Amino acid sequence: MKYKILGQTGIKVSRICFGTLTMGPLQANLSLAGGAGLIRYALEQGVNFFDTAKLYGTYPYLKKALQGWPQPVVISSKSYDYTWEGMKKSLEEARVALDRDTIDIFCLHEQESELTLAGHRPALEYLEEAKTRGLIRAVGVSTHTVKVVKAAAQMNNIEVIHPLVNMRGLGLLDGTLPQILAAVKDAYENGKGLYGMKALGGGNLISQAESALNFAFTMPYLHSVALGCKTKEELDFNIAVLEGRIPSPELVRKVRKTPRRLHFEDWCAGCGACVKKCPSGLLALRNGKAALVGDGCLFCGYCAAVCPDFVIKVI
Ligand code: SF4
Ligand code: SF4
Repeated sequence: MKYKILGQTGIKVSRICFGTLTMGPLQANLSLAGGAGLIRYALEQGVNFFDTAKLYGTYPYLKKALQGWPQPVVISSKSYDYTWEGMKKSLEEARVALDRDTIDIFCLHEQESELTLAGHRPALEYLEEAKTRGLIRAVGVSTHTVKVVKAAAQMNNIEVIHPLVNMRGLGLLDGTLPQILAAVKDAYENGKGLYGMKALGGGNLISQAESALNFAFTMPYLHSVALGCKTKEELDFNIAVLEGRIPSPELVRKVRKTPRRLHFEDWCAGCGACVKKCPSGLLALRNGKAALVGDGCLFCGYCAAVCPDFVIKVI
């Protein structure tokens, strides 16, 4: 495994960050033992950096996997909270659920613009205070937009940025691929720690996985690349590409055989919560039920997370 220091945080992270969304209840829904076993396997391969979120429901896997693990591990979590109290509660929830005194990085989740960053100021102020008290080591922000990368790059109180970057710019809510690359470069040069997300475009680039991973790994301005995994083979594949090895045909076959899709159960009540939540505007109500109405779904599962009736699943 290769490692880098995440910007000016002093935190040493593996170049592959294990993204836990994919294995969790919003997507593959691995058993606790299965998910924890997969994380343990990643640890044994040298991965020391794990991305999670309040939304993902994956704290139990991490807690179980890390029990008795002797080496330092870096965890980044995030929450949509915008109030001081709400963010305090979310950080406490993470500390308890993960059984850790300190969460290494805590992020404002999925910021959309300078305006949402401004609207989250109380939550950001809480995170700054939590840092001074040693409850976190660095404050971050995750985003699917160019404008937030640009804004966060100029903010002294944000040290880590988790931007959407892939070789086609899939899933960007604003701007173009050259624009996000330029914004990431500027943020890097401003000393921010950067770990990318959606290098495989939420699975849409799986048929070109080697090229897509190589693009992310060779970007000089990303310290680490978060990659969701639900099988050992996916992780083996990612590590092989990172290390410049050619994955075996068998490994390639296993990784490519599982395209993802959104599944809608037929008991949708048509409340519209998922429609409002989709950051890419891909959902609408058709005949009173939620439906996918556009291309480019990132399989982020954010729509599934807000459905009160568990209608939507990423499978
Ligand atoms: S439809 Fe759902 S899974 Fe797809 S991009 Fe929108 S929120 Fe994410
Ligand atoms: S949130 Fe659930 S119940 Fe509401 S419209 Fe979407 S799928 Fe249907």
